[in-house]
Amino acid sequence: MKYTKEALETIVAEGDGTILDTYDRYNQRMRVRFRCSCGAETSKRFEMLNLYRLPYCEPCSLKKATERSKATIMKNYGVENAGQAECVKKKIKDIFRPVGISNRHFSE
Ligand SMILES: [Zn+2]
Repeated sequence: MKYTKEALETIVAEGDGTILDTYDRYNQRMRVRFRCSCGAETSKRFEMLNLYRLPYCEPCSLKKATERSKATIMKNYGVENAGQAECVKKKIKDIFRPVGISNRHFSE
């Protein structure tokens, strides 16, 4: 990954954002000013934009990150959060556990 104008434009375009300034040089530590798709002005470091791919203002970034993690958990577990998945798994185990099997080691 190179920290170039093109790379920055690509990342910001992914979120329908608008870069507000033009820069002479591009590097990972530069702070980029841009307008979020919701209309708010914000700024982020280039390396953070590249790492998280969240070219949004703070509230929008948070919303997006939450949506993404929900989508990931949904994909992995088929439910909205991991806690729910564990709970469901345990319940299913309890339902299907044959009667008496949990006490077997006492009678042996
Ligand atoms: Zn926003």
